[in-house]
Amino acid sequence: MRIELRNKRVLVVGLARTGLATALFCAARGARVTATDTRTEKELSDTVATLQKAGVALELGGHRQEMVLDADLIIPSPGVPADAPLLQFARAKDVTIWSEVELASRFLKGRLIGITGSNGKTTTTSLIEHILKNTGFSTILAGNIGMPLISCVEKTSDKSITVAELSSFQLELIEKFRPNISVFLNLTPDHLDRHHTLESYGAAKARIFENQTEADSAVLNADDPGTTPYAPAKPQVFWLSRKQRVAQGVFLRGKEILFRRDGVEEAALKLADIPLPGAHNVENVLAAVAATRLAGAEPSAIAKGVRSFAGVEHRLEFVAEIAGVRFYNDSKATNVDATLKALDAFPGRILIILGGKDKGSDYTVLQAPLRGKAILALLIGAAAGKIEKQIAGSVAIEQAGTIERAVETAAHAARAGDVVLLAPACASFDQFQNYEHRGRVFKELVHQLERQAASTTPLGGR
Ligand code: ADP
Repeated sequence: MRIELRNKRVLVVGLARTGLATALFCAARGARVTATDTRTEKELSDTVATLQKAGVALELGGHRQEMVLDADLIIPSPGVPADAPLLQFARAKDVTIWSEVELASRFLKGRLIGITGSNGKTTTTSLIEHILKNTGFSTILAGNIGMPLISCVEKTSDKSITVAELSSFQLELIEKFRPNISVFLNLTPDHLDRHHTLESYGAAKARIFENQTEADSAVLNADDPGTTPYAPAKPQVFWLSRKQRVAQGVFLRGKEILFRRDGVEEAALKLADIPLPGAHNVENVLAAVAATRLAGAEPSAIAKGVRSFAGVEHRLEFVAEIAGVRFYNDSKATNVDATLKALDAFPGRILIILGGKDKGSDYTVLQAPLRGKAILALLIGAAAGKIEKQIAGSVAIEQAGTIERAVETAAHAARAGDVVLLAPACASFDQFQNYEHRGRVFKELVHQLERQAASTTPLGGR
């Protein structure tokens, strides 16, 4: 399975973090590497110097299609669509195209747990790694908030467990990639701009099971009709469910979470042990219980790991409580489903900040939960007009324009017991560098309010 990179002609397409790591990885193993990016030498300055030092040839500011003819292997970055003209041309010419995770998996030692789905990947991946690390396993976290898998290779050993978050873009370009334990959390419309249909998006994610054998395990969500049709035949399937007992897997009985394997049930932890808000986080925890139990962690250690998990920044992250109003940052809610889950996570009287860059989404599905739970929607960014039209009549609307105005207005309108929630259902690129930036700006605005409140409230509560 391992491949020899020495003297292989490798073309790396896209030079963000993963592309850079991939090019350096291949060059260090004796490959003849060329890297290309639409950005120019000037835009990529530091990266260019690093690559040149490693002996990587560069074609910047665009590329000639013919360059694929000089390659034995092409590794596009996760940001490059599989149907980009360059890749289509390469495919027509029968040049092998792999994602970085396929390449990395050829060199990984130890065990591999892979997590995919539309939402919850980062949370679940981090939680699984957190539990296993606290149990004493030697773990490596790969993906969105860790390192690209290719950068983890050197750290792996026969004893390590690599826990990797996997996107559909990475999975659609695999060949032999095979996790020992795979997790497919859920499937909802997102990235349809790139995958075109829900079927091809689902099929790309389901490739996580493709090379698994009877010795491997697959964890799927029995409550999510989007994923159940993808249950694989070969690996042992373990289901998670909040709603029903499962023959094999993890489920809820009353307020208890149980793990069931080969007819034997064991109590893993209590619902009250979960420190994260929302039913969706219960699903993430169920998935993590299944994966870590299958990896060999004991129930008591799993319960301890879940209880001590602080959550991940920008995912329903608690920011502050000011005069009884709680502020939550869910900037990572960049699609409508994540926003639905965020609304579902609180009992009511929510002031929600919505908007940003539209991804062709249908916001009308927000109407019912807004009507039931929200008292005010504060709209920001480029999608504000479309959102207003699509949610009109369900909740009071304020066209705030910017996040600064939205926070200020929300803070004035809220009263003790309310929740102010940033869960915008949109991408951030119209007003921010990325969702992390948006989340940080939101948190800073809230902390400013907190400082103001502290300086105007007399000590001792007089
Ligand atoms: P991903 O890595 O798949 O984008 P994250 O853990 O970063 O997932 O969470 C992304 C967004 O989705 C956040 O707004 C989070 O609150 C929400 N979310 C987390 N888990 C789930 C889930 N199981 N189902 C739906 N939404 C979820």
